[in-house]
Amino acid sequence: MKRRDFIRQASIGAVATTGVAAPAIVSAETEVKWKMVTTWPKNFPVLGTGANELAELITEMSGGRIKVKVYGGGELVPAFEVFDAVSRGTAQMGHGAAYYWKGKIEEAQFFSTVPFGMNSQEMTSWLYYGGGMELWRETYEPFGVIPAAAGNTTVQMAGWFNKEINSANDLKGLKMRIPGLGGEVLKRAGGTPVNLPGGELFTSLKTGAIDATEWVGPYNDLAFGLHKAAKYYYYPGWHEPGTTLEAIINKKAFEALPKDLQSIVENCCKTVNQNMSLEYTAKNNAALDTLVNKHNVDLRRLPDDVLLKLKTLSQEVVSELAGKNKAAQKIYDSYSKFYKQASAWHEISEKIYFNVR
Ligand code: CA
Repeated sequence: MKRRDFIRQASIGAVATTGVAAPAIVSAETEVKWKMVTTWPKNFPVLGTGANELAELITEMSGGRIKVKVYGGGELVPAFEVFDAVSRGTAQMGHGAAYYWKGKIEEAQFFSTVPFGMNSQEMTSWLYYGGGMELWRETYEPFGVIPAAAGNTTVQMAGWFNKEINSANDLKGLKMRIPGLGGEVLKRAGGTPVNLPGGELFTSLKTGAIDATEWVGPYNDLAFGLHKAAKYYYYPGWHEPGTTLEAIINKKAFEALPKDLQSIVENCCKTVNQNMSLEYTAKNNAALDTLVNKHNVDLRRLPDDVLLKLKTLSQEVVSELAGKNKAAQKIYDSYSKFYKQASAWHEISEKIYFNVR
């Protein structure tokens, strides 16, 4: 308190002599406590720890002027109520993924991932440089929520199956945990999609309540022990080719911050957005090696005709989503335009290089 009194007095002195108004004083003295609710199990590798990293970074870079306390899914609010909690102001911040809110805002799904859509690099480029972020902000505006990209899983795995998938016919009757647009695609292929929080996957698969589940990729899947609950591990993750994870911030709480703290929050999200993709790239390959060579996991590629069927259905599902309302169409148009351009470039750059190296 003594230090604060000193700053206040010193600042009052400055105001008297220079005529500079109050905001600088507010900025130096601001000390706020934020709650960050998340959709992830507490401390879950990369997803949960990434949210922790974001909180710690904000606290550290602000010199303790914003203290952020992280809550795992279900600790303060249930995993799928994170958006509502931030919208209401029960928590000032959240960490999750936009497709979890499809029941509330269908077009939000474009901001997480689209089946057979952009990969992580393309998705992030669209958000930062292709107009995606502006559309995302517009989408959450009516809920008093500000979104930021805060992590990317990179391309996921198709998932863990207790039934072999040898043809598109094998998708019929398949009860699988698969959220978002991928779930809708599976439904049209004759399957039964269910949405469950990460923490419930192992038991559901083990007890046969579901036949299959997707989660993320080798590193996260290994942490859940999913190889002990399923026979086959299929790739590629057609349904989540580069899922953006989001930080959401209560608009009033954000606007109450001085500009420098607002910038810190925004830039910490950017840092974590980048770090999480890098961590996945570093850890997925080591985990895949463990799964295959230590746990003898039966690793399988989805057959071409299955992928083709899923791709056709995906295009149908995504264009129908675009047709649902004006906002969805606007987002879809922007997404598609950027995807087309990025694909044309990546066709002769990244893709060909992967094939020739
Ligand atoms: Ca997933």
